[in-house]
Amino acid sequence: DPGHGGRDPGAVGIGGLREKDITTPVSRRIQASLNARGINAVLTRSDDRELDLQPRVNIAERSNADIFVSIHSNAISLSRPDVRRARFYVLVNTSMPAVLVETGFVTGREDAARFRNPQEVNTIADGITSGILQYLNVQ
Ligand code: ZN
Repeated sequence: DPGHGGRDPGAVGIGGLREKDITTPVSRRIQASLNARGINAVLTRSDDRELDLQPRVNIAERSNADIFVSIHSNAISLSRPDVRRARFYVLVNTSMPAVLVETGFVTGREDAARFRNPQEVNTIADGITSGILQYLNVQ
């Protein structure tokens, strides 16, 4: 579940770094890696489109997903407490085990630099893939 998308950029960090521009490629790489191992990984969105929270839950339910993994990037911000609450919606409303992964902080200098490096983004995605494979016990 790539967080945000479309008109919803998610958190905006250093140099205008947008959360949705991290969650989308990370999620796509995770899907590709899992599919390559014969695991049917379904994305709630595969391109840059806005998607409400309930439709994300619906996709997971319709897919009979074994697990739900929501991909986000964090921000240090006291001005958006509603986002912190809203993002847990998908965790509470899915019937399968669900986890929300914060890949780092778009407002963090080190993390922001990492997010701008495609190689580093791949490393983040591969780490999450590894965790999923361990959880599914297929490594
Ligand atoms: Zn988010």
